Amino acid sequence: MQLKTLSRSEHNISRDNISKNALKVLYRLNEAGYASYLVGGGVRDLLLEKSPKDFDIATDASPEQVHALFKNSRVIGRRFRLAHVVFGREIIEVATFRAPHSEGDGGVTGDTGRIVRDNVYGGTLADDAVRRDFTVNALYYNIDDFSVVDFFEGVEDLDEGILKFIGNAFDRVVEDPVRALRAVRFAAKLDLQMDQDCIAAVKEHRHQLADIPAARLFEEALKLLQSGHGVASVALLRQHDLFGYLFPLTDSRLKSGDEYAEKIMSLGLTNTDTRIAAEMPVTPAFIYAVLLWPDIRELAQKYEQEGADPVPALHMASDEVIPQQLAATSLPKRYSIPMKEIWLMQPRLNNTKGVRAKRLLSNPRFRAAYDFLCLRRDTGEDVGELCAAWEKIQESPEAQALLLEARTKARFKRPRRGGNRSKNRQPAS
Ligand code: ATP
Ligand code: MG
Repeated sequence: MQLKTLSRSEHNISRDNISKNALKVLYRLNEAGYASYLVGGGVRDLLLEKSPKDFDIATDASPEQVHALFKNSRVIGRRFRLAHVVFGREIIEVATFRAPHSEGDGGVTGDTGRIVRDNVYGGTLADDAVRRDFTVNALYYNIDDFSVVDFFEGVEDLDEGILKFIGNAFDRVVEDPVRALRAVRFAAKLDLQMDQDCIAAVKEHRHQLADIPAARLFEEALKLLQSGHGVASVALLRQHDLFGYLFPLTDSRLKSGDEYAEKIMSLGLTNTDTRIAAEMPVTPAFIYAVLLWPDIRELAQKYEQEGADPVPALHMASDEVIPQQLAATSLPKRYSIPMKEIWLMQPRLNNTKGVRAKRLLSNPRFRAAYDFLCLRRDTGEDVGELCAAWEKIQESPEAQALLLEARTKARFKRPRRGGNRSKNRQPAS
């Protein structure tokens, strides 16, 4: 451990760039006499002059002590207990310094070396640092004197563009195989190079991802696909042969040289990255609809050849494909239902005239289904002049009113706030 402390004048982090809510939490913890640090992506991204996605805080207060300080907080997580302080849409995550498992009974490591529970409190800042994944993720901004504490030369790695595990890379991936996915995500998002040990450890232990619960892999898949760097993330996932743990059907198509799958995935990921860059909303329903479509399309075609009508053929295809995907990454119903609707609307979009067509416009899924149709056209698939026709239809004032109504309906159906924000740092059993 090569501890370095950068004083206020030796780094570029300014409180102006830290969210007001995060500052509130940092100050209140500090005033109550606890250690209070900004850590993780919040510090790393500010050092890189990027705007952090969220702000995480580390303290020596236990989750219950944090809860006692903030009325607007709740304690969450079983394997890795921590406190969420909730300010409207913004959630500040406050994690307690952990001590080594030998110092208490809240720590459990499985037979394979995987950490199943990590709730021994009472650790020091150094204990906390050593348990984090990458050197660039173990940088601490101390609210007490505005210095940055760097235990593992993380600042130097950031400067050099290197992603390096803290400690033995092989052990770190065994402890939590999801770190292999995290490595790729940070490399893609921050344009860092995974170092040789990181690459070798991912290669050696990636198969252990097969044992990770599908719900946790879903959360990681979303972070990879909806970070605004989906194209780069998937390229790296494929390079390190990790994509199949998240999307087995899609991966085997890509490996067999399926050009249609390659094309529509690339268009779908680019579309999502572009929307995120433009601060437009994105939904997992759409990107999942894209990734699974080559399988859906092929099966539906088969059923149609056997005599089924297009919509029932798609139903049957979905019934076959969706469970296979759910075995890898779960997909909550609030996304799988709209995903299926996007597919089912494809044949319905063939009809651009009359009451039925009008009814489609007021369907909350119309816009997504229309975007999907245009994506199919962009792959070179023959969808006639349908996209242009629908584009024209949407221009009329009557259509605009229907679309607005549909958007309002869609908004009513939005999932509860925070419903998808459970961040489990350690593997669930
Ligand atoms: P971002 O929020 O931009 O995705 P982040 O680095 O803040 O990136 P989080 O998932 O928010 O990532 O986690 C916050 C911090 O918690 C990380 O920077 C890291 O220090 C620690 N951490 C999270 N998950 C793990 C893990 N699986 N193993 C070890 N440390 C972890
Ligand atoms: Mg974070």
